[in-house]
Order: sequence, then C-alpha cells, then structure tokens
Amino acid sequence: MNLRTKISLSLLFVSMILIIVISLFANLFLEKQFRQYIIEKQENTNKEITSLIGQQYIKDNQWNSDAIQTIGVNALEQGLIVKVFDKSGKTIWDAEKHNSGMCSQMIQHMSSNMASRYGKWEGKYTEVEYPINSLLNNVGTVKIGFYGPFYFNDHDLAFINTLNKALMGVALFAIIFSFIIGAILARRISNPIERVIDAAKNIAKGNFKVRSEEKSHTKEISELTSSINHLASTLQSQETLRKQMTQDVAHELRTPMTILQSHIEAMMDGIWEPTVERLKSCHEEIIRINSMIGDLNKVAKYESEHLVLSKAEFDILELISNVVTNFESQFKNKNISLKYAGDSVTINADKDTIMQVLINLVSNALKHTVSGGTVEISSKRLEDSVQIVVEDNGEGIPEEELPHIFERFYRVDKSRNKATGGVGIGLTISKSIVNAHGGTIEVESKVNKGTRFIVRLPR
Ligand code: ADP
Repeated sequence: MNLRTKISLSLLFVSMILIIVISLFANLFLEKQFRQYIIEKQENTNKEITSLIGQQYIKDNQWNSDAIQTIGVNALEQGLIVKVFDKSGKTIWDAEKHNSGMCSQMIQHMSSNMASRYGKWEGKYTEVEYPINSLLNNVGTVKIGFYGPFYFNDHDLAFINTLNKALMGVALFAIIFSFIIGAILARRISNPIERVIDAAKNIAKGNFKVRSEEKSHTKEISELTSSINHLASTLQSQETLRKQMTQDVAHELRTPMTILQSHIEAMMDGIWEPTVERLKSCHEEIIRINSMIGDLNKVAKYESEHLVLSKAEFDILELISNVVTNFESQFKNKNISLKYAGDSVTINADKDTIMQVLINLVSNALKHTVSGGTVEISSKRLEDSVQIVVEDNGEGIPEEELPHIFERFYRVDKSRNKATGGVGIGLTISKSIVNAHGGTIEVESKVNKGTRFIVRLPR
C-alpha cells in the first residue's frame, strides 16, 4: 500500500470512528434526557387534565358534562383515554364509551410510533388514577389511560428523527471533508518523497551528478533531501577518488615496470651485460613496486569495517618516546629538531596501531618540513581522554585542501609528492585507526607556517 492511500485511509478511519463514537454518545445521552422529559410532560398533562376536570364540578354531584366531554375529546386527540367517575364510582364520562374506535386507534398509533423507533418495544396500555378535588373536597376520580411506560407522539418522533438526520448529515460532511483533506495532505507529503525517490533511483544507477531540488517546509523531507544530496556528493567524490586511484596506481606502477622490462629485455638480447650493478637497479624497482602493493594492502586492511583491535594498557608518553628514538637519525640527517613532552597517561588501546598513527604523523611532518625546522610531539591528560599533538613548522597545507587530506589516495600537490613518494593513504589509515578506537583526529594548518595534527583517544 503506498503512503498516499495509507494517509488518506487513516484519516478517513479516524473520522469515521469519531463520528460513530459521537453519534453513539449523543443518542444515548440525548435519548435518556428526552425520555425523562417526555415522562415528566406526561405527568404534567395528566395533572392539568385532572385539575381542568375538577373545575367542571358544580356542586352536589352535578358536573358540567359538556365541558368534560370537550376536555376528554381533546385529551383523546393527544393519545389519552380519560374516564371520569364521581365519588360513588358512577361513570360521569368515558372516552371508550364515547368513541371506542378512536381509542383503540390512538393506542394502535402510539404503539406503531414506538415500534418505528425501537423495533421490539414492549409497551402496553397503562392507566393512572388521580383524585378530583373541588374546594379541597374529594368529589371523584379520573383514570387516564395511555400507552406506557411512555410514548412519543408524532411531534416527539419528528424531533428525534430530525436530530438523527442532522447527525447523519454532519457525519457525511465529516467523511467527505476528511477524505478531501486526507487526499490533499497525502499528496503534499508523498509527492516530494516520490521526487526524492526518483533522484535516489537515478543516483543508484550511477548518475552521481543528480541532485534533488526539492524544497519542503516539512523538516523530515528537507532532511531526507539533503541526506540524499550528501550521499550523491559523497559517492561522486568517492567515484572521482577511485578513478584517480586507479590512474595513480597504474601510473606509479608503469614507470618501474617499463624500466624493469627494458632492462631485462636488453640483458636477454645480449645488449647489456647482466652486471651486479644493473641487477641491483632492477631489484630496487621491484622493491618500489612491492612497497606500493604493501601500501594498497594496508588501506584494505585498516579501512575494512572489521578492524580487530587487540587492546592492552600502556603509557602513551612511553610510546611517543619510542617513536622519537626510531626517527632520531632521519631527523638528524635532515637537520630538523624532534622534541616531545607532556603527561604520562595510561590508556587502553591497540598499541601497534596507535604506533602506526604516530609513525604516519611524524613521517609526514618530516617529509613536509625543511631543514632547520622543528617537530614537536606532546601528550595531555583530558577529563576522560588523552590528547596527542604532532606539530611542525613546515610548508603547511592550503585551506581548500584541508577537508580532503584524510580521503583515500588524496595528495595535496601531486608533483610535490612525487619527490616525497607517498600515495596519499597515511592519513586515511590513521583516521581509520583512531575512529576504530572511538577517538577523533583533526588538523589545523597554515601555508608556510606549519601543521598541527590533534588526536584524541578515550582513556
Ligand atoms: P602521503 O602518503 O602522500 O603522505 P597522507 O595521507 O599521509 O599521504 O597525507 C595526505 C596529504 O596531506 C599529503 O599528500 C601531504 O601533502 C599532506 N600532509 C600530510 N601531513 C602534512 C604535514 N605535516 N605538512 C604538510 N602537508 C601534510
């Protein structure tokens, strides 16, 4: 089921449930009140009739029969069967005697009214007796018969039916309204999502230049759009990097391979004597190729998601000191001073990989600092981490290159790096290692001023 149908149906469902609940409650409560009202009205009418009849008593058991008949006939038209008796029980007036056909017709009518409303309504003919008083003396009784326990006359029934019709009208309106609103809402949500999906499908096909231009006021949709665009640009730059890497690898391998090939061919053809000198040069080329392949392997290993760390506790300052000792002669040869200082902090980490990070950073500093420069390593205890800084005052990195230097095979100045021999993976590996430890690595740099790498590792 698509999103649009789902939203429309949900809204429709909610409004229908609401309508049903409201109608049920309205019917229950209103009906209860209405019944009460009808019962009270019945009682009042009965009393009114009794009092009217009482006024027709003249004296000495003499009654105004004409007036009583008018009252009785009026009552009969309202569905009430009136019987008047004097004190001795003698009938003064009896609706059934006056017009028995109309009486049974009335009862029949009320019963059908109630049945039309309640289906199986179990009502029956009921009679209530009231004493007739004239000047505080009891002069007789009135029996009023009706269809009980209560009944709806035509007006009452019309009122209830109108109310129900109004409720049904409201329900119909609510359903149509919610359907329209649901459809509009669903369109407004699903249309932009569909367009983003189209863009994503295009990206999946390899069109990394595609960007979704969707502008939405809905936070999630605009976040979705920007994530898709970010994904596309990441894929695009990865793609560029990959192409660049293939080119780089091919280019880097071709030179030593060509040299090797021509040397060996010359020796095979007898043009060159296979002297130790010449074999040594071939051997050097093979070593270069090997070290490149080694670098490629390292990227595969450290960048894989399942970098396994064998953690142990060690002192970070001690490790720095070891690295410094290893590099001492290389720094001396290039006339660069190498210093270290800071806090002695014990951390729980994979010592070999952290050493690899330090070696990468220090050898980069060595490569990119001119003779007479300084490289400093320091460690500092922070609240729940340790901060290691490798700082040089060498050539620095241009600001626009900084965001890329941790990317695979990224080298700042391609020709500059020819001489230093890197393939652009040292920092990629370092970052993978630091991230695998749950730490961070950052860089600050100014061209011709120097570079500072800041590594933070959790203790
Ligand atoms: P590489 O194998 O080329 O050294 P890295 O990933 O270690 O690759 O570094 C990426 C790029 O960052 C290098 O090409 C280099 O230009 C630049 N870089 C790294 N460290 C420094 C530094 N300390 N000073 C100047 N540039 C640096």
